[in-house]
Amino acid sequence: MTADQRTPRPVAALHRGMPASDGAGVTMTRFIGTASLSMLDPFLMLDHFHSDRPDDYMAGFPDHPHRGFETVTIMLAGRMRHQDNKGNAGLIGPGGVQWMTAGSGLIHSEMPEQEDGLMSGFQLWVNLPAAAKATPPRYQDLPAGAIPVEPRPGGAAVRVIAGTTARGTVGPAESAAATPLLLDVSLPAGQSFAEPVPTDRTAFLALYDGGLSVGDTEAAAPSLAVLGDGATVAVAAGPAGCRFLMAASAPIAEPVARYGPFVMTTGEELAQAFEDYRAGRF
Ligand code: MN
Repeated sequence: MTADQRTPRPVAALHRGMPASDGAGVTMTRFIGTASLSMLDPFLMLDHFHSDRPDDYMAGFPDHPHRGFETVTIMLAGRMRHQDNKGNAGLIGPGGVQWMTAGSGLIHSEMPEQEDGLMSGFQLWVNLPAAAKATPPRYQDLPAGAIPVEPRPGGAAVRVIAGTTARGTVGPAESAAATPLLLDVSLPAGQSFAEPVPTDRTAFLALYDGGLSVGDTEAAAPSLAVLGDGATVAVAAGPAGCRFLMAASAPIAEPVARYGPFVMTTGEELAQAFEDYRAGRF
């Protein structure tokens, strides 16, 4: 192993997120897709919903379109039912993940399947390169039991949603174009986590419980740590332990033309998306 391969990635920026409301009035915290962090190529948006007040989530996300990217829903608590106009439907329960490729376009709804209790989770938007934006829509529903757990020393657990870890655990979710590594990590107090992630990959930690440190930087939940250059992601749990998502993927490095639920490469393609949606071609 060369020195370079051991270089830990520092925290380049720490974000506390912005309060946001989306769908028919769902209250959440937006970490990516804000004025201060418009995107983190190829990640376009990251929302964290976490509330035990039904008023914050019951309105859900009634029928709306998407085109040009993928939406990844990671449920930690609660249930959401997704349904689209291509005949796909799925119930995402605690610990479950849905990887939806909107691709050429679909109309779907995302509605809570509960009337009280805690609803907690994330939705991550992953861009598609221009060459893959017209890919047919696809749903991958992964219940908690379909997501392998890689045990680590000291009681740490790594749920491997997508990609392959250095220890060889393969996550079941497939992107239409990206090569993401998406992990859901639980670290007890005093434990640490390390995973090689090449420096040419965009990488972030979305901390949703407890506290952690990366090098000299300490973070408390909820927060988003954008990782800088280096070859290894190294995290130490704080005194209360921590739970976080770690996501990494190669940037697409293409222009992004986005508006609401459409993410294209040019303004013309964006106008075409609106026209196709209005004309009922989704
Ligand atoms: Mn949606």
